[in-house]
Amino acid sequence: MTEVIGPGRLSDLKDIFEGLSIRSCFLVADPTAYTSSGASERLQPLLTSLDTVTVFSDFAPNPDDTSVEKARHLAAQSAYDAVVAVGGGTAIDIAKLVSCSLNTPLTQVVADPALIRRDIALIAIPTTAGTGSESTHFAVLYVAGVKHSIAHDRLLPDVCVVDSDLLKSVPASVAAHTGLDALCQSIESLWSIHSTDVSREFALDGLRLSIANLEKVVNHPDPTSRDAMARAAHLSGKAINISKTTASHAISYAMTSEFGIPHGLAVALTIGPMLRWNAAITQADCVDPRGVEHVARTIDQILGMLDADTPQDAALWFDNTLSAAGCSTRLRAFGISRDQLTLLAANTNVD
Ligand code: NAD
Repeated sequence: MTEVIGPGRLSDLKDIFEGLSIRSCFLVADPTAYTSSGASERLQPLLTSLDTVTVFSDFAPNPDDTSVEKARHLAAQSAYDAVVAVGGGTAIDIAKLVSCSLNTPLTQVVADPALIRRDIALIAIPTTAGTGSESTHFAVLYVAGVKHSIAHDRLLPDVCVVDSDLLKSVPASVAAHTGLDALCQSIESLWSIHSTDVSREFALDGLRLSIANLEKVVNHPDPTSRDAMARAAHLSGKAINISKTTASHAISYAMTSEFGIPHGLAVALTIGPMLRWNAAITQADCVDPRGVEHVARTIDQILGMLDADTPQDAALWFDNTLSAAGCSTRLRAFGISRDQLTLLAANTNVD
């Protein structure tokens, strides 16, 4: 994947298109962000110079099969050199799935990702600093409220353009939810049993940037904090691209589909308790092949980065960070009662 990163770098898209001989594109554009981020205005001269451009914006947060089917139907009416996404994780995942299912029914792709084919270019331009989807080979898809994570090498974009100027229009609440996603992805990647030396480097760099900039980008955003969070999210994506995510993500999906909690916030609600849980691991319940000592070292490393003496202090750090970002820390604030915990447990993504 070619990575183009830095404020203002959206203007590199002209050279990228020329380099890849792109004369026609199917643009998956977030219905709000495409205009409010300034991307629409900045891309206008480039897009009007192409032979064919079709814009698809008929979707809401969290990609579902109905939106992807609509996009596939529209894309099937012409031939394109590239699918380009401008938006958050939702737009990027829709673009990934459209580009990889042009000739295969979506239901088959979901059932057997090995059927995925992609013969055209895929370019991702994130307008949120959260998911890092531009740097992963996964796509999330909700089918009848049930979350599927589809994995295939061809879901990794050929090019990503991470331009933090596109974050200027992000409302504080979205900056909080998406920033929490980046923070949690880095932490989960660190303690994932699939982590490697390489994923740990990405995760540590991403975590360092998230810790230093999350509260700032929510409450007092400036170009430096925006660029830092854009990089933090991108690094967290590179980390989970290797290690995958863990329990907090697995538990979060039903919170989003059943209770409408934004993705990153849903993940962050259980990260403190999961840290305490993982810190208490013993030989008897440790599934990391590197053993309890390895897990303990990782937890200590995370505590050190959070400047916390104990797992309880770290859990408190998360509560304070959520509060400082304007988010409640209690499930009941989102309409989740004690009785409904069974529903969340039953809908947890076991993979
Ligand atoms: P999102 O794309 O759903 O966007 C959230 C809201 O922010 C939307 O209302 C959107 O219009 C608005 N928005 C986005 N950018 C904006 C901007 N610059 N200015 C103003 N408004 C803007 O949110 P997200 O958190 O980026 O993506 C969440 C989705 O990504 C979830 O479905 C999640 O499961 C998925 N995800 C995918 C991966 C992956 O690797 N494929 C990783 C993590 C998360």
